[in-house]
Amino acid sequence: GAKGSGRGTYRFFEEQMDARMAARHALELDLRKALVNGEFELQFQPLVNIERGNICACEALLRWTHPKRGTINPDVFIPIAEETGLITRIGEWVIRTACMEAAKWSSEVTLAVNISPVQFRSQNLVQIVTHSLAASGLPAERLEIEITEAILLDQTELTLEKLGQLKALGIRIAMDDFGTGYSSLGYLQKFPFDKIKIDGSFIKGLSDQTESTAIVRAVTGLAGSFRMTTTAEGVETKEQLDIVKELGCTEMQGFLFSKACSAADLAKLFKAQKKSPHTES
Ligand code: C2E
Ligand code: MG
Ligand code: MG
Ligand code: MG
Repeated sequence: GAKGSGRGTYRFFEEQMDARMAARHALELDLRKALVNGEFELQFQPLVNIERGNICACEALLRWTHPKRGTINPDVFIPIAEETGLITRIGEWVIRTACMEAAKWSSEVTLAVNISPVQFRSQNLVQIVTHSLAASGLPAERLEIEITEAILLDQTELTLEKLGQLKALGIRIAMDDFGTGYSSLGYLQKFPFDKIKIDGSFIKGLSDQTESTAIVRAVTGLAGSFRMTTTAEGVETKEQLDIVKELGCTEMQGFLFSKACSAADLAKLFKAQKKSPHTES
């Protein structure tokens, strides 16, 4: 009857919520098995020195091929891995595997690896990095870890100390997705970053939003005075490349040059680059 319809609607939402939670729980269980089952793979996306036009680094990007559901995006499974703490083990696999791969590259190419705030806080991060470098033979100065502003929120003293320990290994530290979090330009002075990666949302806005232009200009200016390099993320068009170059970004990363690709395809890209090192895009 009419009386029951409100309740029915409520139950409908409740059931939907239950279904969503069940789906998430199922994914979580599958994620627990993914590492052992060998369902993860790393892809690599080049970062290009804008002035010279050569690949200066490659970022390792994690891919999960689910046995039934196919490819699942990191934006979906990384948050689950973080909430469950699985990211620590997964992240360890990422560092180890990526270092082994990067040790095969030319000595001019740096490896960039994303580190989740949860993994950053774990006790053994410094040890894992040390072991991965030793086992692979990758020189420390060719490893760059990418962290986000989220790590700067808590325990500033401890965070500073750990960043210092990592720097002491000789590796580089990049601030990823700059501008999307709790950005404070003050962080740039406090923490020993080597690179600022300007989030793709600002690059998207460059052609028609004067605000984005002002922000990118401010960041490159400041980064320059702190001797940090700047990477423009998500560069998709020649127009955007021209603008970020004009605004003083030192590096670009984006579909204009290349999407993330398998280790094998990356090797082909390196070969092509060797033949004609100055061809842009
Ligand atoms: P991120 O670290 O900012 O990585 C860059 C993301 O932007 C990648 O998405 C890349 O494919 C995408 N991208 C690059 N160029 C373009 C472009 O021109 N246009 C557009 N639309 N997108 C572009 P992906 O691989 O889906 O990764 C998403 C996020 O997941 C990463 O953002 C990172 O935060 C996280 N992630 C990926 N792999 C790992 C990992 O191994 N460990 C951790 N902790 N996080 C990871
Ligand atoms: Mg990144
Ligand atoms: Mg990023
Ligand atoms: Mg991102």
